[in-house]
Amino acid sequence: MIRQPRSILAALTAVCIAAVAVAAVQNPADRFAGVELSVVPAAGQVHMVQRPGGGGNVGVFAGPDGVLLVDSLFAPLADRLVAAVRSVTGGRIRFLINTHVHPDHIGGNEPLAGRDVLIFAHDNVRVRALERLRFPRRGGSFAPRPAAGARPVVTYNDAVSFHFNGEDVRAFLAPAAHTDGDTFVHFPESDVLHLGDVFRTTSYPIVDVYNGGTVAGTIAALEQALALAGSDTRVIPGHGLEVVGRGALVEFRDMIVDVRDRVRTMIAEGYTLEQVMAAAPTAGYDGQWGQEATWTANDFVPIVFYELGGGSLFVP
Ligand SMILES: [Zn+2]
Repeated sequence: MIRQPRSILAALTAVCIAAVAVAAVQNPADRFAGVELSVVPAAGQVHMVQRPGGGGNVGVFAGPDGVLLVDSLFAPLADRLVAAVRSVTGGRIRFLINTHVHPDHIGGNEPLAGRDVLIFAHDNVRVRALERLRFPRRGGSFAPRPAAGARPVVTYNDAVSFHFNGEDVRAFLAPAAHTDGDTFVHFPESDVLHLGDVFRTTSYPIVDVYNGGTVAGTIAALEQALALAGSDTRVIPGHGLEVVGRGALVEFRDMIVDVRDRVRTMIAEGYTLEQVMAAAPTAGYDGQWGQEATWTANDFVPIVFYELGGGSLFVP
């Protein structure tokens, strides 16, 4: 090849890379321009910080000894998250627990670590954060490998408890539901549960098969949550427009069990996936849980079908 064109090509390539790099730096910030976080009380010493649309709800446990956060939203929102916490308390943000590895729950880790916040998560969150992330929407999107400073510093394979603000807070691994590293955070004295993305009120459950999630585990995890929830317990969904009660949890669990049973019956009768979809086993629920454009029955039902043995998820 002639030298000159290669140089021109190299120069053009460099310009393109620079342009992409600038766009990559600018776009995440643009995406969050004008986003205002709000704070609502859950119960006791626990609040919920939410963004418009109810995505990536953050738990804030605030008392005289300081603050524990549950999840950290996205990095560009970190200052706004801190400001939201400041509207509740002037106390130091000491600890952060990630309920799972998805970017909308760990994105603020690095800036918060820079503020001396100690980050906790299940072992599998740290393991998965060592690689680029994959998540299930839009057929399996990718996100870049999180920065080293975003990784959990303290990990556990079962449970970890916090003893401060006069309460005993328990964070523990749920059955493999949304992912295989889902943590539930229970505040027995404040009577609040933060269930991460195992529980959402805005769509069907997202069972992230790329990160070890299962339908059976989702049902088992919701059963565990129900066993902890009393009639007055306030429940923070990973995604949802408000803090809800036990009844919403029962409704979500019952819907999943019903869809699973319907699909199982169809499989037993020899239905193909196409026939299952045509039979619309979620028809009665689509109005409530099927309205989120990037996660509808068309995403949820095939996962149920494949997990129940209706076929292989990885047929070429
Ligand atoms: Zn998630």
